[in-house]
Amino acid sequence: MKVLVAVKRVVDYNVKVRVKADKTGVELANVKMAMNPFCEIAVEEAVRLKEKGIATEIVAVSVGPSNAQEQLRTAMALGADRGILVETADAEPLAIAKLLKAICDQEQPGLVIMGKQAIDGDNNQTGQMLAALAGYGQGTFASVVKVEGNKAQVTREVDGGLQTVELSLPAVVTTDLRLNEPRYASLPNIMKAKKKPLDVKTPADFGVDVSPRVKTLKVEAPAERSAGIK
Ligand code: AMP
Repeated sequence: MKVLVAVKRVVDYNVKVRVKADKTGVELANVKMAMNPFCEIAVEEAVRLKEKGIATEIVAVSVGPSNAQEQLRTAMALGADRGILVETADAEPLAIAKLLKAICDQEQPGLVIMGKQAIDGDNNQTGQMLAALAGYGQGTFASVVKVEGNKAQVTREVDGGLQTVELSLPAVVTTDLRLNEPRYASLPNIMKAKKKPLDVKTPADFGVDVSPRVKTLKVEAPAERSAGIK
């Protein structure tokens, strides 16, 4: 079974983000970027499925700027077999979901694993939109994933408890924090990843219009907390 993993390049979670002086967005110049933490969990889950002999190939996909290749190389150092970058400036969840759907049509994966949310936009939309567009079942906020034959059992972290759903494959799973603890890439694997195939495409290759539907009017930092009283 082929597993597709979607990885997003975001500001590293250790960085304290700052709003740009003109309030049009957050400062990205000279800021450390990294793979979205929930996507790291998605890659780890795919690698574990491969180690169990369930997944045969892992394809990492990213939609973003040219340097999102760094995050695809990280995914390959962790165990993905190849990467696909769809090169575009900032795209919205719907456009990303349409691109991922087009890639699913080409690649025909048995399972798509994504993060539950990207820590930059906090959208929590792309996985659900992809499932709807592709007509796949979805198991979101996964804390346990078991694949057997043509089915996946996904335990979901919902308000007030855990819910287990059974999905027919192909399906979309989005990862929650407790699904696994991602490994670190070893130096030999980082070197090996440089030689793995990485395809660079454009949205036009898939006939997807990525023009924005949402306009950001203003970005502001939260109000400073006033001092407490001892
Ligand atoms: P979001 O809906 O933006 O919160 O993102 C949820 C998940 O969708 C992420 O954890 C990724 O797995 C996937 N995703 C979102 N944006 C991208 C992107 N630009 N490239 C690849 N995957 C993405």
